[in-house]
Amino acid sequence: MKTQINPAYCKGCNICIYICPKKVYVKSDNLSEQGYFVPIVSAPENCFNHGRTGKMSCELCVLSCPEQAITWISEE
Ligand code: SF4
Ligand code: SF4
Repeated sequence: MKTQINPAYCKGCNICIYICPKKVYVKSDNLSEQGYFVPIVSAPENCFNHGRTGKMSCELCVLSCPEQAITWISEE
């Protein structure tokens, strides 16, 4: 599984960038329609859950996002 950020919810706080121990996210200078800089999921292959389909071994970013903007999607 890999993460995705819903740009409609993200407020550009960058918590996901700083909290991810695997450096999956990077800053972006692309403004969302809401006027926030939404991070990019630049290295999903670094995530602890890369290749997993069952129980996640890490959900730090998902649980830490104050806007619930991060969700899981299939890597296929
Ligand atoms: S933690 Fe959530 S709201 Fe903050 S930048 Fe990341 S996705 Fe956006
Ligand atoms: S689940 Fe953990 S390793 Fe994967 S992107 Fe989120 S914080 Fe990083």
